Amino acid sequence: MAIQQVAVIGAGTMGNGIAHVFAQTGFKVTLVDVQEKQLERALATITKNLERQLNKGSITEEVKQSTLANITTHTNIEHGVAAADLVVEAATENVDLKLKIFSALDAAAQATCILATNTSSISITKIAAATKRPDKVIGMHFMNPVPVMKLVEIINGYATDKNVTETIVALSKQLHKIPCVVNDYPGFIANKVLMPMINEAIYSLYEGIAGVEEIDTIMKLGMAHPMGPLQLADFIGLDVCLSIMNVLYTGYGNPKYAPCPLLVNMVTAGKLGVKSGEGFYLYTAGSKDLVISPTFNK
Ligand code: NAD
Repeated sequence: MAIQQVAVIGAGTMGNGIAHVFAQTGFKVTLVDVQEKQLERALATITKNLERQLNKGSITEEVKQSTLANITTHTNIEHGVAAADLVVEAATENVDLKLKIFSALDAAAQATCILATNTSSISITKIAAATKRPDKVIGMHFMNPVPVMKLVEIINGYATDKNVTETIVALSKQLHKIPCVVNDYPGFIANKVLMPMINEAIYSLYEGIAGVEEIDTIMKLGMAHPMGPLQLADFIGLDVCLSIMNVLYTGYGNPKYAPCPLLVNMVTAGKLGVKSGEGFYLYTAGSKDLVISPTFNK
């Protein structure tokens, strides 16, 4: 089916990036959030990112203006999705919230509308079961930052229709992304492989095998990773890492996915990484230096 009108639900970190790439490709986008403040912030971020692209010469002033003109905002989900051919949900990662949103989307969107979710870890099949159109529900997992990262992990729920998958694959290519289709099991592929690696890095620190700097340097220089696993965990958010490990642990029932006690302790203590100012590293406003947290720099 031809997709022209897209609604993006949630105007946070991911939602603004998703709205940006669709609008820049020429789609009409309605960005929906329950908080007006988030919509304002998202438009400011999109404008800033377009200006950066303009200064680098990767887009023209015309593209910047047309991208902004393609985006409208709404605080009401029913009105925001009424004309959409595709909805991409990127609201807060919370199962009950997503089930509520999908039930509302199912009631408000056109019968032909595809309902995609950007969830990192919640079962697509479970989200689809909150609607009367599970065949039209699919995972469309963009990576952060969306305008820069090429991958879209596309996740087929148990009931996702083959034509819906083909539409989303073609659409991802139109957005100049590289789609990879996977099946709906805990963590999909991206997080099923990434999070145990991060958890193992935290275990190595917890067991005293090596320090923060050594672990991150070995993975950066030895495996050509752009960022060490502990720094990456800080960037993702330690609460997010813990929640995904718990999804893997309960979903597969396998002790190899048990979250490291140090990760659990850090989240309990509110040391969540970049967003709280401290994780394995310290983050002070205005500083670009990578400083190891005093807890691990003894
Ligand atoms: P965020 O906290 O930055 O933004 C979430 C937004 O959802 C907020 O603006 C909030 O106001 C809004 N929201 C909450 N309830 C809503 C509702 N009922 N209707 C409309 N909007 C609502 O979160 P994020 O980091 O952008 O994550 C969004 C989704 O993307 C999550 O499912 C997350 O797992 C996934 N994801 C995040 C990343 C990442 O690196 N941040 C990467 C890939 C996928």
